[in-house]
Formats: sequence, C-alpha cells, structure tokens
Amino acid sequence: MSRDAAIANVTEYFQSGRFQSDLAGLVAHETESQNPDQAAALTRYLSEAMVPRLTAMGFVCRIHDNPEPQGGPLLTAERHEGAGLPTILTYGHGDVIRAQTDQWRAGLHPFRLVEEGDRLYGRGTADNKSQHLINFAALEAVLAVRGSLGFNVKVVIEMSEETGSPGLAAFFAAHRDMLKADVLIASDGPRLQPDVPTMFMGSRGGVTFDLVVDLRDGAHHSGNWGGLLADPAMILAQALSTITDARGQIRIPAWRPDSLTPAVRAALDGLPIDGTDGPAIDTDWGEDSLTPVERAYGWNSFAVLAMKSGVPEAPVNAISAHARATCQLRYVVGTDPEDILPALRRHLDAQGFDKVRIVPHDRGFFAATRLAPDHPWVTFVADSLTRSAGQAPHVLPNLAGSLPNDCFSDILGLPTVWVPHSYRGCSQHAPDEHVLKPVCRDALRLMAGLFWDLGEGGTPG
Ligand SMILES: [Zn+2]
Repeated sequence: MSRDAAIANVTEYFQSGRFQSDLAGLVAHETESQNPDQAAALTRYLSEAMVPRLTAMGFVCRIHDNPEPQGGPLLTAERHEGAGLPTILTYGHGDVIRAQTDQWRAGLHPFRLVEEGDRLYGRGTADNKSQHLINFAALEAVLAVRGSLGFNVKVVIEMSEETGSPGLAAFFAAHRDMLKADVLIASDGPRLQPDVPTMFMGSRGGVTFDLVVDLRDGAHHSGNWGGLLADPAMILAQALSTITDARGQIRIPAWRPDSLTPAVRAALDGLPIDGTDGPAIDTDWGEDSLTPVERAYGWNSFAVLAMKSGVPEAPVNAISAHARATCQLRYVVGTDPEDILPALRRHLDAQGFDKVRIVPHDRGFFAATRLAPDHPWVTFVADSLTRSAGQAPHVLPNLAGSLPNDCFSDILGLPTVWVPHSYRGCSQHAPDEHVLKPVCRDALRLMAGLFWDLGEGGTPG
C-alpha cells in the first residue's frame, strides 16, 4: 500500500490498452453540442459512459436538466468518505465541437479512435474526453490500492461547454451547497510543452461580436455607381484598422489591462511559448514592449475571426451593400468586461465610424480569472506533480484560452487549479484532433500521485 503502487496500478491500466479502449468508447459518442440533432447523444454520454463508471467507484450520481433550454444536461456525482476530510471538486465536459467530418485526413474519422504511432486521433480526444477519463482512472487506481481515497470528491460533467456553458452559472448559483468544496482540481487545455507538466489557475475571458456595415438594399453596378455609393467593405476595413495598429497593438485604452504587475511578469518569466508543436510565432506581432509569453498570458488580444462583403466565391462587378466582420477580444483580469463593448462604441464614434454597428453574439463567454502563483493549493499541487515527474511543472497564472472558470472561482468561491493533459499541437477545435500517448500515460501517473497525496493529510486548511 503505497504511492508507488497507485502509480504502478495506473501505469498498468495504460500499458494493458484499457485506457485506449475506454477512450475509444467515449469518442464513439457523437456529442456535438453545436449540432441540435445530437441532443440525445449528450444525455447518453452521461447515462451510459459516465454514470456506470462513477457508480462503480462509489459515487452517487444525478443527471440534471439544464436551467437554460439551449443547454445540455449536467451530471453531478459525490463520493463522501467523512465530514472532517477535504473535499475536492472536479469537472469535465463531455461535449465536443462540430465533427467537421469531411475535413479530416484520409484514414481518420472524428468518432472513431485511430492510433498512429504515438497519437490517438478522434474528436474530443484532447478536448475534453481523455482529460476527465485520466482523472477518473487515477482516482480508481488510488481506490484500488488504498481501499479509500482519504478525501471526498464531487464531480460536475457538463455537455454544453463548446457553446459557452449556457446554464452552468445559474446551476452553480442554485446548487452552491451541493457543490461546496475546498478546491477545484480539474483538467482541460494544453500543456506548454508536451514533456513538462503544466498548471494554470484561471483563464482569459473572451467577448465575440460582429461589426456590421449595412448601407442599403442590394448591390449596384460598380461602373454605373462606383464613386457615387459608399463601399461598406472599405468603411469596415478602415474602422477595423483603428482598433489596433499594423502589428496588432490594441489602441482602445479600456482594452489595455492594468494587471501586468511585476509579480505576474516574474511568474511568466522564462516559460516556453515557442515549440515544435505548432506554427512559428510571429515575434513582430502584438504588444511590442512585451515578451511573447506576456502577450499570450498577461495581455489582451484582438482578432478578426471572419469577414465578408459581396460574394467572395463568385464576385460580380457591383458595389456591395453590406459588410460584416466577426471579431473577438480575449482579455485577462484587469479589464472591465462590462466596458468592453461600450468602450468600442465610444472609440468608433470618436473615429467617425458611427455607421459601423456592434452586434454582440448570443453565445455566452467566460470571464477572466486568475489565482496567485503562490496560493497554498497551487504550492500543494505543484509539489505533488514535482515529486511524480521529477521536475517542476510550468505554472501559469491563467490559461491563454477560455474556460468557465469564473463559475468555480466567482460563484462557488473556490481556489481553482487546472492540470491540463493535452499539448498545444493537438488540433483541438480543428480536424485531426488527437492526444499523445506518452502525455496521457504521464498524466495518469501524475494524477494518481496527486490523488494519493490528497488523501495523506496535510492539505491546505
Ligand atoms: Zn473546446
């Protein structure tokens, strides 16, 4: 009965092929939350894939309707060992983004797990099915070796994360007591480098909106009317060009955060950002005075996600009547989320672009959150991961991407520690999504070690 035995147990789970076949079973559920035709698959994922496994581990499970009609069901589960023991809340999401079936490479299919060398391909492998599977398997390993965990566990699995977690905040607000815990320890997102464990304690927030220039009904001949009719595409392009400068540095004062303190800069200093697992970083892009790490984790970034005027697939000789750009601001703590769009309106008006309308997207997004890198729970988890991995993890104040972390930190009032099990080249949200087998194996071992240590006493008060 030892920590090493729990780690050996979960290693055997991986080596025997059971991890891979369990992941294949999860990937086979076509849980596209953006596709209304797959609503039944969302419920089946919980009732067929999650509940039996958790029940076998001694959890009491409950599937709840989402408080918002457009949201998928939610699973809560609890394994209670004792009133005096710490309670860990963990979280995962079983939904995936659109399958994009026709865009996957030959030989791959989004809902069939395909092994190629070190890679396991399939929609949701990285985001988020392997990640909660790893954590459950690590809990099982500790239970198998110790006979008990030594702490209480609560689980939330949601099925609408990829549509902005509708209803999650309302559900948490209505069930604060049921979800009461000492800390959130959960997994999503990528490691900074595949071979080094990573922790992050929050995420950037995001706001998505359209900028629309709508001048008249229908297009008009560009010869007869060119020079006489204002061009919506040019007005939109000019308006966009005032939001940042030519290298993407944000020009709207309220969009520039005030939180890049010396302590945050010190925490970010030296973290890797450029790797072999993604495109080369454009070092001449973004805020000139910051390092690339500070640009991604300590600052805000503006992007034009899509743009349209006329019919790009079949252009005609006409002045278009409409132009539209879908835009997004990713922002860190230190930006007032309530003032993001009002500040943009003030900016556009001041620049003379009152014809450019701002149309916020319905899709909910998440607020920016962060926990100090020296918080006792951060130190506890970091020490455990260091012991298992033989090296210190990369510790980020927040993830560059977005997560519904505000539900845990702001509504439930929990310290939040995320231990991601994917890597940056995983093609999350794209065709050919995959995980790396060595990272999965390593993550199983880290989590078994962490869950072992949580049951040994000495957790932060
Ligand atoms: Zn995702």
